[in-house]
Order: sequence, then C-alpha cells, then structure tokens
Amino acid sequence: MKKPTNIILLGPPGCGKGTQAKLLQKKFNLVHISTGDLLRQEVADKTELGLRIKSIMDQGLFPTNEEVTEVLENRMQKPDCAHGIIFDGYPRTLPQAEYLQTKLTSKPIVILVKISDEILSERILLRRSCPKCGSIYHLKYSPSKDGYTCDKDGEELIQRKDDTAQVLKQRLEMYDTLTSPLVDFYKRHSLLHEVVADHFTIDEIFAKILEIIERTHQ
Ligand SMILES: [Zn+2]
Repeated sequence: MKKPTNIILLGPPGCGKGTQAKLLQKKFNLVHISTGDLLRQEVADKTELGLRIKSIMDQGLFPTNEEVTEVLENRMQKPDCAHGIIFDGYPRTLPQAEYLQTKLTSKPIVILVKISDEILSERILLRRSCPKCGSIYHLKYSPSKDGYTCDKDGEELIQRKDDTAQVLKQRLEMYDTLTSPLVDFYKRHSLLHEVVADHFTIDEIFAKILEIIERTHQ
C-alpha cells in the first residue's frame, strides 16, 4: 500500500481515535500529532508557553486557539513532519480546519470515527481504573477478577472524576457544536470519509481505515 501523507482523525472523545492514530503511525511511519499530548508536554517542560497554558487550565478553562495553534506550529516545523502527519484532536473548530488547509502541502485524508451516544456512554461510564498502577478495566467487557480491585496490586478501583454521565453529556454537546461545521467543511471539499465504530473491534476499525486509505490514495 502506498504511504499516505496527511491523515486527520475526527471523532468524539472516547471513540478510540487515539488508538487508531497509534496503529497508523506504526504501519506508515508517520508522525502522530496529538495536540492534547503536546499541550501537556509544554506544561511538563515548564516552557513559557507551558506556564501560560497551566494558568489557563488552573482556572478551569481550556487553552485557546492561540495556544493550541502555537504548539501545533512548533511541532510541524520539525523535519520529521515532512514524511506525513496523523492529526489527532486537531482541528476541533472550523477556523482551525481552514487554517490547517493553508499549511498542508497535499490534500489530507479525513476520517470521521462515528460512534453512537449509547455505546460511548457504556464504554466510558463503566470504565474503572487503578489509582496505583493506572490499569484500565471495564465492568462489562474487561472486569478485574473480583470486579472491584486491581488484579496486579489489589488496589481498589476507582471511576475517573470526569467519567460521569453529566460530564459526558456536556463533552458530547460541546463536541457536536464545534465539530458539525468542521464535518461540513470537509464534506464540501470532498475529503471526508466515515467509519462506524459501533460493535467493531479495534482491529476491525483499523482494517476499515486502511481500506479507505487504499481507495483514496492511489
Ligand atoms: Zn493496579
């Protein structure tokens, strides 16, 4: 299969696009750009930008377009990006998508990972994690042996603070508001492809994505 250049993965938080991005990175040796990871890295490195981001997040706000664009531009200037990039978590808004179009030298393959709200909420609300080692379990699909403590260290499993129905609902509403114009934009440019994730395994979804790449990137 010919190596694609730029791939943009869209989809709601929890749809599994981060996992797919990592698989694509391995297969095609592309650079995986997750703006969430980049922002966290700036904060960890305590750069001037990182300190600015931290003060915004400490107030309970999200980094603005300005900060997100700055980390993205810094990363895209590195020479390895010439081989092609997988965008994960960017663009999130229409202005960001328009901006990215001006930066890319070739047409991106845009893949929207669709998942129903019911499946997404089951996936997220039944997720439990170990506060000690970080292992992730799922009460229905991958429970620990006794259902409530970690198999590795016996620590009592917890639910992440933001994995509640209320927070999930807010996240999905925000995602819909921001992303619908983005989806329309890529449709208008005939760049959008959709993959339905409901009831499919990670490998099955990956196979569908490869099929799209093969079809569109001759
Ligand atoms: Zn553990």
